[in-house]
Amino acid sequence: MVSIMLGTNIFYSGYSIIFAVIAIISGIIAVWGIKDTDRFKGFGGFFIGGMMLLLSSFLRNNTHYLYKIGLNYNFVTFTLMLMALLTSVIWIIAAAEIYHNKTANKESLAVYIALCLTLCVVYSFIVHNHQLALNISANLVICSLLLLLTSGLVYLRNTHNSGSILFNLSVIMLLAKIIISNYFFQYNWLNLNVFNWLWLYIFALSGIFIKIADLRKELQKSWNTIDKLNLQMSNMVDLSPFPIMITKITGDKILLINDKAVNLFGISKKEIAFHKLKDFLIDEQNRQDFFNALEKDHIVEDFDLMVYDLINASPFWLSVSAKTIEYNNEIVLYMAFQNITSRKERENNLQSMAEKDPLTLIWNRRYFEKNVPQRIEENIRKLQNFSLLMIDADKFKNINDTYGHKNGDKVLIKLADLCHQSLRDDDIVARFGGEEFIVYLNNTNSETAAIVAERLRKTIAETTVTTDDNQRINFTVSIGVVSSEKTSSLEVLMGQVDDAMYLAKNNGRNCICVYNAEAAKKLMTKHKKTQQRNIHPIFQNEESDEISLLDNYESKIL
Ligand code: GH3
Ligand code: MG
Ligand code: MG
Repeated sequence: MVSIMLGTNIFYSGYSIIFAVIAIISGIIAVWGIKDTDRFKGFGGFFIGGMMLLLSSFLRNNTHYLYKIGLNYNFVTFTLMLMALLTSVIWIIAAAEIYHNKTANKESLAVYIALCLTLCVVYSFIVHNHQLALNISANLVICSLLLLLTSGLVYLRNTHNSGSILFNLSVIMLLAKIIISNYFFQYNWLNLNVFNWLWLYIFALSGIFIKIADLRKELQKSWNTIDKLNLQMSNMVDLSPFPIMITKITGDKILLINDKAVNLFGISKKEIAFHKLKDFLIDEQNRQDFFNALEKDHIVEDFDLMVYDLINASPFWLSVSAKTIEYNNEIVLYMAFQNITSRKERENNLQSMAEKDPLTLIWNRRYFEKNVPQRIEENIRKLQNFSLLMIDADKFKNINDTYGHKNGDKVLIKLADLCHQSLRDDDIVARFGGEEFIVYLNNTNSETAAIVAERLRKTIAETTVTTDDNQRINFTVSIGVVSSEKTSSLEVLMGQVDDAMYLAKNNGRNCICVYNAEAAKKLMTKHKKTQQRNIHPIFQNEESDEISLLDNYESKIL
């Protein structure tokens, strides 16, 4: 009887273990797709099911062990059938847990088990049709029906594709089983075990397909959400009252830009793929400061950014507020701009007004005193000398008196112009006060400074200013020269260059005088004496017989 029973069983050939192992592996693969929280439960179901299959196939092939331990034939049939049915129940429950992501309903579990027990008892003890009972145990037809039922329920309970896939598969497989067993193998349709096992594989595999379909759906859903968010962001950028630009952090590619920003940067919207933010920020220092600030805090507010319009290649100023944000699954830089060129121009004008002399339009004393110390430091660092020239118009009072204040102004403007023109770009010339000018000569020693001063003096002396009524004014200057060879203290050098200029006045005006400590000392002594007599040092020479100052001065003014 046992041999008949096992002879019709395809698993008798020893493949049962392989099938069982495959069942366990496919179960584990199915579980792989389950959400973390349900993974353990699903895995447990499939694992226990697989283990039971292993055990039942072992027992079915080795029923003599069961007889050896005193079990009768009915009981062996009952045990095998029960194991087979319980296995299918466990598989179904595990699968149900996967589909519903929750624990299986306890009542339906009780119903399944009760059904299994009843079937086992009926076929093993009451009907006594062992052949049929064992066929049922081997076929697991109940499993097929329950599977169909479960899949139908999944289908009805939610409109999810997974339910319909499973349902359709169940129907197709059941029909295939009936047709194949009846017409091809001429067996009782309940007899073809391999198809029942396949049921389980299909069940497990459909778990995988369902999970993949779910994942794809979830992915599609998140892509749709991203698309929606992107559209929202794009609308927000387009409708913003400010110019807005979004660029990639890596690669600096422009991702989004609104019309206002397109107009501001002078580019066409079609070309944005070819532009990078740094193309517009060609002031190296300004750009570095901006990115440093951004790197530090990931947000920058109201930063003054110097930008170049690519069409006109002209610089303009923008105030930018920028933040690194996540957009389209990557970290990007969101920037809102405001054109502050006119404000910046006003600021620059105010600053230059504060640092420029309004009459001659050259730097004023404030600018000189603010900037020269830095330049001196630079010269010291480079181990270079620098020189100062103090230029004072000779007898300027006379010019004013003779030609009027307005023409005096004209002369001062011309004087500033001549100084400015005859010096290099890295020299600084400033109006120091009234008719006095100070010059800083970069990287210049005393010899060169004397040459420069003399050349300037000569140029000035040869220049004429024409008044409105065509009178020609000639004017001269006295220039004091000092260099940093002995000291680089600006304070000391300023005193010395002033002394040198007074020495030049003393030496007859329209000349230059390189600072000489000895001569300055002499002058100071004389200065003290004149001070005691309340006479300005400039006029003391008029009393002195050492130098005749004014002899040919008047004749120089034509
Ligand atoms: P010295 O050769 O000794 O320097 O004689 P000076 O007349 O140039 O010297 P002083 O310091 O006595 O006179 C300077 C004059 O320069 C007095 C002032 O009226 C004139 N001055 C100062 N600032 C201006 C100005 O902005 N415009 C005009 N037109 N004259 C000015
Ligand atoms: Mg003066
Ligand atoms: Mg003067």
